[in-house]
Amino acid sequence: MFSCTRCGNKVSDGPLCNLCKRQFDFACAGITETNFRKLGERRSTWRCIDCKNAQSPASTFCNNPGIAVRLEEMQATLVNITQQLVPLASLIEDVKTIKLNKALLKKAKDLAKIKNFKYVWIKHCKILARKSDTSPTFRIKSEKDLLKFS
Ligand SMILES: [Zn+2]
Ligand SMILES: [Zn+2]
Repeated sequence: MFSCTRCGNKVSDGPLCNLCKRQFDFACAGITETNFRKLGERRSTWRCIDCKNAQSPASTFCNNPGIAVRLEEMQATLVNITQQLVPLASLIEDVKTIKLNKALLKKAKDLAKIKNFKYVWIKHCKILARKSDTSPTFRIKSEKDLLKFS
């Protein structure tokens, strides 16, 4: 006679978990007596539901320190990659700005022709314009600045 670990029922026979060494009645063990008998020799390696669940991939993943370390390494690598991506992101921004400037420059040049502006040029990625050799230079940052051609 023993008491089932789960419900405390006193029973004469029931599966004994190979891992946690707790013994259950058949109802709590989740196996019928017939099926348990059929296990034959493998009865000695039977595991209770708790131990079976603990062996599932999800918990093995968390309980495995080796994997935890590898996760940390992966995180570090990811941070590294992200840091390397920052200059790339600003490069993409630069390209965007250049593309935008190109369109703006074309408009500025067209306008300059119409409005008789002598100079439209780019310096350090900035579009600059000047009506004549003696007039002040102004910067064209956006479409709004195109109004300065007057
Ligand atoms: Zn029980
Ligand atoms: Zn167990």
